[in-house]
Amino acid sequence: MTSMGITCRSCGSHNVSLFLDLGDQPHCNRLIPPALADQREPFYPLRVGFCQDCTLVQIDHTIPKESMFSDYPYVSGTTKTLVQHFKETAERLIKTYDLKSGELVVDIGANDGTWLKQYQPFGLRVLGIDPAANVVDLALKNGVPTWVRFFNETTADEIVAKEGKASLVTAAGVFFHLEELHSVIKGVKKLLADDGVFVVQAIYLGGMIENLAFDQVYHEHLVYYTLKSIEALFAGHGLEVFEASLVPIHGGSLEIHVAPKGKRPIGKSVDAMRADEAAKKFAEFETYEKFAANVWKLRDDLLALLRRYKAEGKSVYAYGAPAKGATLLNSFGIGPDLVQQATEKNPMKVGYMMPGSRIPIVEEGNKRPDAYLVLAWNFLPEFIAKEQAYFAAGGEFIVPVPKLQVIGKDALK
Ligand SMILES: [Zn+2]
Repeated sequence: MTSMGITCRSCGSHNVSLFLDLGDQPHCNRLIPPALADQREPFYPLRVGFCQDCTLVQIDHTIPKESMFSDYPYVSGTTKTLVQHFKETAERLIKTYDLKSGELVVDIGANDGTWLKQYQPFGLRVLGIDPAANVVDLALKNGVPTWVRFFNETTADEIVAKEGKASLVTAAGVFFHLEELHSVIKGVKKLLADDGVFVVQAIYLGGMIENLAFDQVYHEHLVYYTLKSIEALFAGHGLEVFEASLVPIHGGSLEIHVAPKGKRPIGKSVDAMRADEAAKKFAEFETYEKFAANVWKLRDDLLALLRRYKAEGKSVYAYGAPAKGATLLNSFGIGPDLVQQATEKNPMKVGYMMPGSRIPIVEEGNKRPDAYLVLAWNFLPEFIAKEQAYFAAGGEFIVPVPKLQVIGKDALK
């Protein structure tokens, strides 16, 4: 067992063991503009470890948050699946917690306001917090009040002073990004009204393990939670998880509802997930060693497949250029020799190159390859439905995760 020589981001233990070393990689969302094509971008270690004391899985290297999140190319509203997911979630939370017109909902890492927008028709007051000025502009145009800053204890004090306490605080797809993890939790505690609830949606480590989704590991994601490790984190701040469930977004996310300790009865869902995690041995280091071995097996299989396509003279493009795609390409050493370009519908990415691999990102066009490597595999059903004509014409999808497979005419409906 190799010690990482770090202190655990949650419990402060020095007992963090390395299980997956993905090598040095550039920041996955730092796309390369044409003007910088001849300069090498900074590379940082991407290593994943397991805390033997509180079971938290984490990476050791922190790229300063200001450099990662002050200008952000990811926009929630571009993904149809995500918009629908946010709508359903907002309606469910309003109903469950009987939220009334005029009450305050605060979203941490609010992005372009896609989620908060769903609360406005119900008369709720909303406030988004996001450090990326470029996406906050979109939120404001969207009619969603949003402040440009990082959420932490200071921001929470400011919100309470100006807007009062919140009945609901949410953090979707952001709670594993937090450099100031403990300050954020203290801030949430201050911000919550007496009977307020904090709802977190985060990539679920259990889902990553089961789906071999190692490509969810990137520098923005500092920590990877199971219910057990996130319960331990909140317990250290006098908070507790009273509901826990899995939601089918981003390839399987954990949704937990948190309140001050003793405020709400612990739901059956928490016991059920604890039992499930124990049965699957997510608190045991051996589980992570096996996971790493499977990642390297996937690398060998995928490289063999792509080299075969190349030898047969077949073109392969990446379908989308998501952050997780950068991890997969860079971890496996896949460049433009094997995947010629990435097609993307997000105009903020087109014209750039993917970091590290330097695969050019182009607009979705008429020129179709023999096969697409599907990097955003979590949206596969949406892509299959959209590409029926492509499959009918003989096109193929190479899907690396959760299991390497090639989809072609068999995907026709
Ligand atoms: Zn720990």
